[in-house]
Amino acid sequence: MNNPFEDALLQLTRAVALRPVREDVLLRLRSPEREVSVAIPVVMDSGSTQIFEGYRVQHNHARGPYKGGIRFHPDTNKDEVRALALWMTIKTAVANIPMGGGKGGITVDPKKLSPRELEALSRGWVQALYPVLGPRLDVPAPDVNTNPAIMAIMTDEYTKLTGDTTGATFTGKPLDRGGSEGRTLATSLGGWFVFDVLRDAFGVPAEPTVAIQGMGNVGGNAARIFAQHGARIVAMSDSHGGIVNMDGLDVDAVESYKQEHGTLDGFPNAQRLGNEDLLELPVDVLIPAALEDQITGENVGRIHARMILELANGPTTPEADDALFARGIPVVPDILANAGGVVVSTFEWEQNLKGEHWSEADVNARLQEIMSRETRAVLARAGELGTDLRRGAFVIALERLESAMMQEMPRR
Ligand code: NAD
Repeated sequence: MNNPFEDALLQLTRAVALRPVREDVLLRLRSPEREVSVAIPVVMDSGSTQIFEGYRVQHNHARGPYKGGIRFHPDTNKDEVRALALWMTIKTAVANIPMGGGKGGITVDPKKLSPRELEALSRGWVQALYPVLGPRLDVPAPDVNTNPAIMAIMTDEYTKLTGDTTGATFTGKPLDRGGSEGRTLATSLGGWFVFDVLRDAFGVPAEPTVAIQGMGNVGGNAARIFAQHGARIVAMSDSHGGIVNMDGLDVDAVESYKQEHGTLDGFPNAQRLGNEDLLELPVDVLIPAALEDQITGENVGRIHARMILELANGPTTPEADDALFARGIPVVPDILANAGGVVVSTFEWEQNLKGEHWSEADVNARLQEIMSRETRAVLARAGELGTDLRRGAFVIALERLESAMMQEMPRR
C-alpha cells in the first residue's frame, strides 16, 4: 500500500521539475498550514462511551478559504487526509475557483453505527473543530460515506455553536437546507464535461464501453450520465466486488437491485468479478470512483483500457502513471476530472453568502463553462510540455498558486 501523502509530494516534485517555482513556494506547498487531530467521544447505544479519531488538515489558503470534503472510513488516517488536502489545493487552482485546499475525516466504519450514533459522531466532529471552520476560513463538504444529510446535521451543530445562520460553512447540503441545485450530480457531470472535451483528442469511439469502480455518489451518477450520453456501461462495483456484462448493464436496474438487496450478488444476466479484475477489463474508458491506490506498479501491466478518467481521488500511483504514459494510455487526473464537485460547492457557498438560489440550468451551464475551459488549458499545457495531463494540470496550478503567494511574500 503506497502512502498517499508521499505520492502527492512526489507528483508535486515531478511537476516542479518541469516548471520550477520559488523555493519558498514549494516549501509551503509541501507543508500543510494547520493539522488538527481530535478525540470525539460518542455515547453508544449500549451506554458505553467510545472515542473516535477525527482530523482536519488545512493545506493552503493562498487562493481562498480552505475547501475539501470529510471522509468517514475505517482506513482514514492523517496521511490520507494530508494527501487529499494537498490535492484540493491543486484542484481548486486547476479549476481557478477562489478556494484553497483542506480535507477532513474520521477513522470509523459508519456501517457499524446506528443512525443516532452516526448523528452524534457528526455533531462531535463539529464540536471539536468549529473554532477552525467558517465561511471565510474553512468550508467542508461531503466525501466517502458522508452525504447531504450529514452536512445538514453538521450545519445545524455549527449554527448552534456559533450563531452563524448563513449556512455557508458546509456545502453539499440538502436543497431545503441551503444546498445548491446540481451539487449531487456535480462531480460526475463535471467528469462528463471533461471527458467530452478530451474524447476526440484520444480517439474514443462515440459510444464507448465503460467500466466503473465504485457506485456511490460519484460512480453511480457517472454511470447514469455516461449511459444517458450513449456509453455502454459494462461493469460496476461496490466495496464487495462487481458485475460485468460486455453487452452492457442497465444502470437503473443495477442501482435498484443494490438498494433492494444491499449487494450485487445474484444480479441477473451478469458475471460476478472482483474489483481488481474490473480494472483490467478491455474497455474504452475505465473510471475509478472509489478509493486511492488502485492502479499501481503491480497491476498496471494488466490495464487494457483505452483511457482512464479518475473520478476518485488518488487512484493511480506515480509509478503506474509513468507506465501508462509510456504505453500511450491517457490518464485524466483527479485534480481535473473530479473538480466539478468543488466547483458547484463553491457556487453553493457563493449563493449562501449572497442569499441567492440559482436554477439547475444556470449551475450546470456555469459548471460546463469552467470544466471545458480548464480542460482545454490542461490539454494544451501537457502538449506544450510533452508530458501527461497530471503534470500539465499541476503546472497550471503551480503557476496560479505561485502568483497568489507572491502577493504576500517578500519579492527577491
Ligand atoms: P461514496 O461513499 O458515496 O461511495 C463510495 C463507493 O465506493 C461505494 O459504492 C463503495 O461501496 C465503493 N467502494 C469502497 N471501497 C471500495 C473498493 N475497495 N473497491 C471498489 N469500490 C469500493 O463516496 P463518493 O462521494 O462517491 O466518493 C468516491 C470517490 O470520489 C472518492 O475518492 C472521493 O474522494 C472522490 N470524490 C468525491 C466527490 C464528491 O463530491 N462526493 C468529489 C470529488 C471526488
